[in-house]
Amino acid sequence: MTELVPHWIDGARTPGVSTRRGEVFQPATGAVARQVALAGESDVDTAVASAVKAAQDWSETSLTSRTRILFKFRELVDAHRDELARLITAEHGKVLADAAGEVQRGLEVVEFACGIAHLLKGEHSEQVSRGVDAYSIRQPLGVVAGITPFNFPVMVPMWMFPIAIACGNTFVLKPSDRDPSASLRLAELFTEAGLPPGVLNVVQGDAEAVNALLAHPGIAGVSFVGSTPIARHVYETGTRHGKRVQALGGAKNHMIVLPDADIAGAADAAVSAGYGSAGERCMAISVVVAVGHTGDELVEAIAERTRALTTGPGTDEDAQMGPVVTGAARDRILSSVDAGERAGAALVVDGRGLAPEGHEGGFWVGPTLFDHVTPEMSVYTDEIFGPVLAVVRAESFEAALELVNANPYGNGTAIFTTDGLAAREFERRVTVGMVGINVPIPVPMAYYSFGGWKDSLFGDTHVHGAEGVRFYTRAKAVTSRWPRQANGVDLGFPTHR
Ligand code: NAD
Repeated sequence: MTELVPHWIDGARTPGVSTRRGEVFQPATGAVARQVALAGESDVDTAVASAVKAAQDWSETSLTSRTRILFKFRELVDAHRDELARLITAEHGKVLADAAGEVQRGLEVVEFACGIAHLLKGEHSEQVSRGVDAYSIRQPLGVVAGITPFNFPVMVPMWMFPIAIACGNTFVLKPSDRDPSASLRLAELFTEAGLPPGVLNVVQGDAEAVNALLAHPGIAGVSFVGSTPIARHVYETGTRHGKRVQALGGAKNHMIVLPDADIAGAADAAVSAGYGSAGERCMAISVVVAVGHTGDELVEAIAERTRALTTGPGTDEDAQMGPVVTGAARDRILSSVDAGERAGAALVVDGRGLAPEGHEGGFWVGPTLFDHVTPEMSVYTDEIFGPVLAVVRAESFEAALELVNANPYGNGTAIFTTDGLAAREFERRVTVGMVGINVPIPVPMAYYSFGGWKDSLFGDTHVHGAEGVRFYTRAKAVTSRWPRQANGVDLGFPTHR
C-alpha cells in the first residue's frame, strides 16, 4: 500500500469521502511515491463549511492575536526549512538549493503579513463638514480559495494564505495534485502555531475540486496561479458566480541583450534563468533576444555554459538541474524540441536522450538551446515550461521591444545593457508586469506585488504586497456625526458646510 496524502480539514488530516486517487511521482526515479486523495464536491462542501464556521470567530479575533500566530508560524517555517525543501524536491524534482530558495521567498511573505496591523490601517478625515468625520476601513471578504500550480508547491500557496488569513479571512487551499505534501505540512505547522481549526483547510484534488470551489456559494474570492487556459477558465467561471478573482497565468519571458552588454554576464544570467528548476518557473527566461551583432558571441557563450551543466537527482549535491515533474511533462517538452528542429531552428545543444546513471527511469530532459528561432515557430509561441532556451536575433532595440510587446504573455522580462537610457526607455515602454534591468528573474519582494500583464493575468490585482491586502479585503467608507441636537429635515444631496 502506498502512502496517501490526505486533505486537511477543520484542523485534522482526513482522506475525505471521495475515493478517487491520483498518483504522486518521484521525478528522479519515475516511481509512484504516494497516492493523493482527489476531492469530490462533498469534500469541498465539508472544507468550505469548516471555513465558513471558522470565519465568524477569526474575523473577530484581534489584530494582536492574529499577528502573534503569524509570528509563531514564521518561526516554525524557519525551523522546518530543510524538511519543507526535501518535500518539494521529492515530489517536484528541483534541486535542494532551489527548493530552499523557494521556502525562503515564501517565508518572506509571512514576514510581510506579520506587519498586518500596519497594513490594515484605514484613513480618517476629521471635520469634513461641521461635526462630521469621514473614515475608511478594510474588512475581510469571508472565505477565500487558493488554487496553485505544481512548480512552487510552497512559495505560491504562501503568496496567498498568510496575507488572506492575516486580513481576517479563512482559506481553502487546493494545491497541485502533482506535489501535494508540502501544503499539508504548512497547514499542520500553522495549526501548531495556534491557528484555530477551519481557518486554513487544504483540499487535495484536480479540476473537479476546482470547479466545485468556483461555483460554491460559500466562497467569496479566488486566487489562482497556473497556466493561461486554466487561468482564463477560473476567472470567467469564478466571476460568473459573483466572486472576486485574481488569476495569474503562463508566461514566455524575454531577455533582451543589447550590443553594449557584458556578454559573459548576460550568458551566465540566461543560463541560470533558462535552466534553473529545469525551466519550470513562471519567471524563467525562455527567449533570449540578441540585438545587433551580439548574436554569435552570445550564443557561443550560452552554449558553452549550457554544455557544462550537471543534471541529476535534486538530492545530489553536485546536480544543478533536476528532472521535470512527470513523464507527461517530459514527453510534451521533448515533442516541442522535435517541433523546433522540424521548423528549422538551429539546435545548438540537444538535451534529448539524457539519462543519468542509476536513474534511467526518471523524467529527464537535458538543457536544450535553439538559435535562429523566428516568431512563427512553436518553440517561440508555446510556453514549453521546460529547460529549452530559444535565441531570436533582432536588428535593433526597437525591433526587440516590438517583439516583446507583440507577445500575448506579459509576465516578466529583462534587459541586459550598460546604457541607462536604453534601460529606462525599455522599462517605460514594455507591456510586461515585472521588469529586470540586468536582473534575469525580477521576482518582486514580498512587500511589492507580483503579477503580469496581458494573458499572464486575469483580474485587476497582483498577489502579495499592498495589492494582496487590497484583494483580500473590501473597503467600507464611514461618515459619522454625533449631534448635540436634531438638524431638521433636508432633502438636498449631502454637501459640506
Ligand atoms: P495548471 O494550469 O495545469 O494547474 C494549475 C491549477 O489548476 C492546479 O491546481 C490544477 O489542479 C488546476 N487545474 C488544472 N486543470 C484544470 C481544469 N481543467 N479545470 C480546473 N482546474 C484545473 O498549471 P501547472 O502545470 O500546475 O503549473 C504550470 C503553469 O503555471 C505554467 O503555465 C506557469 O507559467 C504557470 N505559473 C504562473 C505563475 C505566475 O505567477 N503567473 C506562477 C507559477 C506558475
